[in-house]
Amino acid sequence: MAEKCECPPEAGSETCEPTSARPSVACPACARPGKTVGALTLKAMLAHPLTELREVEYRFCRTPECSTVYYSADGEQQFLERDIREHVHNKHPDDDSVFVCYCFRHTPESIKKELATTGRSTVVAAITAGIQAGQCACDIRNPQGSCCLGNVRAVMDRAEAAGSARQDAENKLSFSPTT
Ligand SMILES: [Zn+2]
Repeated sequence: MAEKCECPPEAGSETCEPTSARPSVACPACARPGKTVGALTLKAMLAHPLTELREVEYRFCRTPECSTVYYSADGEQQFLERDIREHVHNKHPDDDSVFVCYCFRHTPESIKKELATTGRSTVVAAITAGIQAGQCACDIRNPQGSCCLGNVRAVMDRAEAAGSARQDAENKLSFSPTT
């Protein structure tokens, strides 16, 4: 799951992947390494009194089947999806109604709809233009605290793969002998 999002620094590229300077700390629930997330992201996302936050590092767990969203690097605290103010795309990658881009409000459903009706997607260009215009705020809007482009590309890849599989099936049907 080390997808490169290729986002510019103003969209949080520095925080998109854990850096080697910060050793990864495994999620206490699923034992997979989490991604460093800034205190501001937790302040924006937590549906709890912010007095619960401590002066420790927090990590974001993006394992889909793990219910822990944030945990403290010292392992003492875990916050589940019900403890935060957004549905988390990383926990529901196949749920078409959960935002994948929180700044510009794109869902897998809206992306797939455009692909199905026009055969192409303008979503990456639209998000990139928004980032360049300084209109994104991934650190306070996206639960993962960083740019969504990697997730958006993954949604598009899955939609395109599903579309071409459907096309193959249709081609096979239309080429089948009619005798
Ligand atoms: Zn986890």
